[in-house]
Order: sequence, then structure tokens, then C-alpha cells
Amino acid sequence: MYNITLPSDEVPKHWYNINPDLPIELPMPIDGEGGHQVENLPIIFTKAVLEQEMSMERYIKIPKEVRDIYQRIGRPTPLFRAKSLEEKLNTPAKIYYKREDSSPAGSHKLNSALAQAYYAREEGVEKLTTETGAGQWGSALALACSMMGIECDVYMVKVSYNQKPFRKTVMELYNSNIYASPSMNTDVGRKINKETPEHPGSLGIAISEAIEVALANENTKYSLGSVLNHVMLHQTVIGQELKKQLEIAEEEPDVFIACVGGGSNFAGSMYPLIKDKLDGKIDAEFLAVEPSSCPTLTKGSYEYDFGDTEGFTPMLKMFTLGHDFIAPSVHAGGLRYHGMSPQVSVLAKANVIKPVSAAQEDIFKAAQLFASTEAIIPAPESSHALKIGIDEAKKAKETGEEKTIVINLSGHGLLDLQGYSDFLSGNLTQ
Ligand SMILES: *Cc1c(COP(=O)(O)O)cnc(C)c1O
Repeated sequence: MYNITLPSDEVPKHWYNINPDLPIELPMPIDGEGGHQVENLPIIFTKAVLEQEMSMERYIKIPKEVRDIYQRIGRPTPLFRAKSLEEKLNTPAKIYYKREDSSPAGSHKLNSALAQAYYAREEGVEKLTTETGAGQWGSALALACSMMGIECDVYMVKVSYNQKPFRKTVMELYNSNIYASPSMNTDVGRKINKETPEHPGSLGIAISEAIEVALANENTKYSLGSVLNHVMLHQTVIGQELKKQLEIAEEEPDVFIACVGGGSNFAGSMYPLIKDKLDGKIDAEFLAVEPSSCPTLTKGSYEYDFGDTEGFTPMLKMFTLGHDFIAPSVHAGGLRYHGMSPQVSVLAKANVIKPVSAAQEDIFKAAQLFASTEAIIPAPESSHALKIGIDEAKKAKETGEEKTIVINLSGHGLLDLQGYSDFLSGNLTQ
């Protein structure tokens, strides 16, 4: 079977919350310097997502309207067998990939954006503010807000804003307002622009700007596209579908691979299977792949840190490179965050999952091999997972092992062609 699909009425009815199943109890968010960050959470976020953030309920019902829209935008997504890639590699391994690239916004991010925009509208919120790095989260939230009939302001990291002008076009088509961050709209942005006029921006700064706007305006809330528990939760539709599809294919994979930025596509695609591992039902490996230039899990320290640069968020216990870390302008903008989901951090700490890193040049080579065999141009972010998946398939060739490898293809790269062009012409910068 090369293409394993599920009918639309098999979109999951619940999200899976891993909180009650974590091997180490999740450390609570705490106030940092300046205080009041925890107290400010209800001003920043909608009630529904804050409840989900702390919930110990294992299965949380997906509202009917959200589930309905999941179906309208093409969920369940297919699971493909990478037969052409396998043949090219001449490997005995079987490679499967879950197609989150087939989402209309280009990545898995719409799964959480729709839920967050839905709850905001239900609570009478008029506008959501957010940050975006490469533009995928901004595009997803812009579309979700437009579908739910509320406004959306996106603060886009300046270096990406300049590298990816068409992302701005996408977000504007979806009726949202886009600002290059650091911007002149906020105190945080004005301060940074004054001190460092050429500042390239960072996700941490863009988050601070979006939160500042939400703190100052009554009917405005802030929305985050990764890292927090409720975002991981919303993404678990991917893994629940994947689990059913693997049953249909009669596969018990040896290794599951996804890239990690803040952790949401990894969490979403893997948690329902990680639960089976925690329950002792399967013995697979789970690899979380990050860029070697932003090595949060492989080189960061596990400690309390802020989620943003200015310190508006509470401190979260997570793997972090420090909240003032500025990652180099690599093309996989979606993986340039200094921190990591506290849940994913706990799973790494407890050795349930295994972090690995990949270099930019190598991930583009893997992407080209994948595109030229499987026809899909992958997002540079997703290509981190592809690179490690291809390495696993090559290892299987050496040992003759008939391994089964599953990769979450988190998004397509059709708006990342500048990066691909730089790669092909030998002009990639670190
Ligand atoms: C945003 C993004 C990522 C990284 O974010 P996570 O929250 O770690 O999933 C990965 N792949 C794509 C295509 C993205 O858009």
C-alpha cells in the first residue's frame, strides 16, 4: 500500500493529553524577575486554552465545529509509503511519511490555529495577536481567524519578513495585518530599534511584541503556535490518525522521526504512539531532530527560562539556549526557537525520546533527494526529519535490517524556494 487514507468521519473526536502519562511530573510555570507573569496569563490567553494547559484529563473532546472544519480542510491527512525513495536508496527499510504538507496553510500548524481561533471567538475576543518566524504559524493563524471571523495581527521576525515576501502575501490574502518585528508598534520594538537599528529580530522578541499588544487591549488575546501544552494537545489529531493508518498497513515501526522547533509537530504526531511505549506495548525509538545551529535539546540546559526576550511570559522548565539567544539566520526559520516544549523536555530528560541534530547543508541535500524521488518539495524544517530518516535507511542497508521508519512531513517548501535556490547555487549562509 502506497497511500493509506482514512475517510473524513475518522477525524479523531478527542485530543490526547499526555500530562497524566508523563514519566516525570511536569514542573509548573513560575514567576521570574519582575513578577506577575503567572498572574497575567488570564489577560494574555483565552480561558479555554489555559484550562487545557493545566488539565490532567487524558482525552479532551474536540468541539464539533473544529472537528467539522478539520474535515473541510482535508483531514485526515494521508500516510504515504516512500517507495521511490526506498528504491533510490536501495534499502531494505520501509519508509512512511505522514502528509501534514497537504494542509492548505502548508504545515501542521493549522490544527492548533483553528482550535485557538475557535475558542477566542467563543469567548468574545475580537483580535488575536501572534508572532511568526518563517511564516507558517502566521499563515495558519491568519487563515483560522479569517474562517472564524475575528481579526489577526502577526509580528513576523524581520529577517524572515525580508527573506520571504510571499509569506506576507499569503497572510494578507487571509485578511491579517503583518508587522516586521522589531516593529515601531510596541515599547519593546521601539526600544530594540533604537538600540540596534539593524536588528534581525527573533521569535522571542516577536512574542514579546504580540503579548504587549494583548496586555494593553481588552478584547485582544495572544496566541502561541508551539511550546505550550495546549498546542501539543491540539496537534495530537496527527498521531491518532497515524496510529490507525499504521494498523491498516499492518506495520509496527522501529523508529519514528519528526523535527523539533518548539515541539508541536513532534508531539502531535508522536504522543499517541509514545503512550503505547510508556504502556509497554511497543518498543520503538522516537527521534527528535533539531538544527545543529539551534541545538536546544542536544546542547541546551534543562532549567527555568522565559519563553520570550522581554520576560512577559512565566518561566517554564525546559531545555533552553537562553531567552536572549539569537539563532543564525538559517533557512529553517521554524526551528530557530531558543526553548522547547516543557513536555517534550521531560520526555527527553527521561530518555523516552532521543534528540539528534542535523546541519543545514545536509538537510537541503536530503530535501533534494526526497523531492526528486517522492515529488513533494518538503519544508526545510521537515527536511531535518527526512535527513535522519534517510540516514536510518542507509544504516539498514548496511546491516540488511528490514526496518520500518515513519517520518512526520510537517510541511511543504513551496514558499521556501529562495532557500532552495541558495542551496543549489552554493550560496547558503549559516
Ligand atoms: C513551525 C514548523 C515546525 C516547527 O515547529 P514545531 O512546533 O516544533 O512543530 C516544523 N515544521 C514546519 C513545516 C513548521 O511550519
